[in-house]
Amino acid sequence: MRKKIVAGNWKMNTLLKEGMELARAVEKLENEKTSDALVIIAPPYTHLSKVKDMIENVRLSAQNCASEDSGAYTGEVSPAMLVSAGVEYVILGHSERRALFGEDNALLNKKVKLALSEGLKPIFCCGEVLEERESGKHFDIVKEQIEVGLEGLSAADMSQIVIAYEPVWAIGTGVVASPDQAQEMHHEIRGFLASMFDDKVAEDMSILYGGSCKPSNAAELFANPDVDGGLIGGAALKAEDFLGIVNAY
Ligand code: PEP
Repeated sequence: MRKKIVAGNWKMNTLLKEGMELARAVEKLENEKTSDALVIIAPPYTHLSKVKDMIENVRLSAQNCASEDSGAYTGEVSPAMLVSAGVEYVILGHSERRALFGEDNALLNKKVKLALSEGLKPIFCCGEVLEERESGKHFDIVKEQIEVGLEGLSAADMSQIVIAYEPVWAIGTGVVASPDQAQEMHHEIRGFLASMFDDKVAEDMSILYGGSCKPSNAAELFANPDVDGGLIGGAALKAEDFLGIVNAY
């Protein structure tokens, strides 16, 4: 059975002390949550091992990882390093990595495979830009991101993956996808997975929605049968808002 998940992507926000306070507050509220959703936080690299020591029920994710496992790659952080710091998940293919750092589907496929080989669970992001939606190409774009990004994986690998559908036009804009738009794409993604892998992989996959999700709109998004939770940016920076989204289930 697939899991309900709410994951917070802190992006490049919070200094170490603030991040530790936020992690402490999220852990405290997690213990009082009214939903059975799994709660994940993705702080910046610098915070990971300290935050790990402060959380028990909340799960830890990184926001990115290298595509190589060690060597002369100045500034990079390998999946094995993340595992050694107690990290369990890694966000891969976020639209900011794709747009600002030129990460393409082939590179992401390499990262996904390396992360899996080290025991990290990828939260694999996909989503179209506004122009692609307006020209009716959104299903094709997301299909290609999934087909290339998750190419060559086994059903066992897929059981370690979470998919986040994040329409780029909704990220950080305050414009949220309608519940019908989210459901339609999530259903389509499940169809892509069924044809690439099998029905079980498709049925068991947790598919999160991301893009301007808030406590006030989360319940109607999460009410859809193919929406299994959220990847949250801005609203993950306040513990009350973040847990408000968790409790919207
Ligand atoms: C994100 O960046 O993954 C995201 C969903 O951001 P926001 O919630 O701020 O739109």
